[in-house]
Amino acid sequence: MRVLSGIQPTGRFHWGNFFGAIRQYIDLQHANEGYYFIADLHALTTVRDPQILRQNVRDAALDLLALGLDPAKATLFVQSHVPEVSELSWLLMTGTPMGLLERCHAYKEKKERGIKADAGLFTYPVLMAADILAYDSDMVPVGADQIQHIEVCRDLAGSFNHAYGETFVLPKAKVLEESAKVPGTDGQKMSKSYDNTLPLFGDTKAIRKQIMRITTDSRPMEDPKDPEGDHLFDLLRLVGSQADIDAMAETYRRGGFGYGEVKKAVAAASEEYFAAARQRRAELEQDVDYVDQVLRQGAEKARGKAADVLARAQRACGLR
Ligand code: ATP
Ligand code: MG
Repeated sequence: MRVLSGIQPTGRFHWGNFFGAIRQYIDLQHANEGYYFIADLHALTTVRDPQILRQNVRDAALDLLALGLDPAKATLFVQSHVPEVSELSWLLMTGTPMGLLERCHAYKEKKERGIKADAGLFTYPVLMAADILAYDSDMVPVGADQIQHIEVCRDLAGSFNHAYGETFVLPKAKVLEESAKVPGTDGQKMSKSYDNTLPLFGDTKAIRKQIMRITTDSRPMEDPKDPEGDHLFDLLRLVGSQADIDAMAETYRRGGFGYGEVKKAVAAASEEYFAAARQRRAELEQDVDYVDQVLRQGAEKARGKAADVLARAQRACGLR
């Protein structure tokens, strides 16, 4: 099966990115043909500083490699290094109904949060469709927030195929139930643009502080609580050992505890969970040439595939 997914270099990767998406990339790379890219074109809708964008792309590559993405097994590349995708995006754009994009939650939610929308943000699902279709991808591992965009991709591919004959492979989303929507420090979906993230890497002290600031309800401490649906407990569930989780569930049900205790447990468990990746990242930072080489080779391979699919689509619609 060909598996593809992308992640935006819009800031430091967080638990939502890892447990919702990156963890799947790593699991799926063994038995599948994986294509994973750093979505710098998408990031342009948020990051307007060239220096920062460049740094973010480098950080993204380091993070992915440190977390276990293996270039010997999967293809890792930068989105803009495959210009064929942008061209394919235009072919799809011409058949995209406005209403389809207007209904997309991600766009609507960002707008509601007062994040200023440009045409790039609005048409993001079309570029994303091109990203997916350009490699004849069968499966797209993502968090729940992206399911609708994959539906859009299937719609666009389906109507192109209908208009011009079988051209594109229709992909399926793959979502991990237990981490489809990782909560942020405010209990909402964790997202780089919502400023509520727990980063995977970076200063442990600062991360500890962020964990201690996670919002909790204000019920009296004596009350027994149900761990189900408590976002702090959900975070512990991601990083804790089964023994940690069971013991904490018991504490919740007994009551008489402070949330501070839970936060400390989350911090300790997460430090342990990411310790090996941190170590690997520190080593990779010393070998920038290696990282550049991985991205160069990845782009070469990805371009070969995307050029074939683009030519197929161009022929189908009368451009060749
Ligand atoms: P942005 O705010 O810039 O959109 P983001 O934090 O939403 O950033 P993306 O690059 O859009 O991150 O998403 C990368 C991958 O991480 C996607 O597959 C997305 O579904 C997944 N993801 C992001 N946030 C979460 C979350 N809170 N829970 C589960 N998966 C998530
Ligand atoms: Mg997002």
